[in-house]
Amino acid sequence: MEYTESIRRAYDAASSDQRERGAEWYRDYAERLAQHAEQAGVNFDIACAVVGVSSINTRPEPGLVWTARMLNGATGGHLPLVVSRARSILSDAADFETAREIACPSSSPSRKVRSFTCNVRTGGQTCDHDVPCVTIDRWAHYVATDGTRKDVPSGRMYERVADAYRAVALELDIPVAILQAIVWVVVAE
Ligand SMILES: [Zn+2]
Repeated sequence: MEYTESIRRAYDAASSDQRERGAEWYRDYAERLAQHAEQAGVNFDIACAVVGVSSINTRPEPGLVWTARMLNGATGGHLPLVVSRARSILSDAADFETAREIACPSSSPSRKVRSFTCNVRTGGQTCDHDVPCVTIDRWAHYVATDGTRKDVPSGRMYERVADAYRAVALELDIPVAILQAIVWVVVAE
């Protein structure tokens, strides 16, 4: 089955309640992150990169809990690479793109962290990068491959899956991050 067909089928299977929750997923997550950032006195753009790097091998909810601790000066609680990138973001990054580059260098074959960082920042709305960012994690990959793959794709495979989400989002006339979040809600339940 084509990626686009599998994605479309997952979207079509969503109840109106699931579509609503998917549509609000990034906005809700971004609002909660913004509260933590404000309490800790950290710029929201910088906090987005920390929550982006938190998503390595970690689900969004525990990732947010850990991020809140990091913003308040914690120095552990995650993989050493993740902790060191987060600390570097918090001490060295002055703007969003620099922070995002520390969270995941643009030279990296994996786009997931870069995309998640951007999708949280815009609250799921279409970003102003040349190609709209879309978070392809193991679940987004699982849906696109009709349940046959459950890893985080990288390199050209990542872009092929991301392009399939972009094509379906265009067809549905909704932001691609919202489509991806709706599919997350469907597959999680
Ligand atoms: Zn983007």
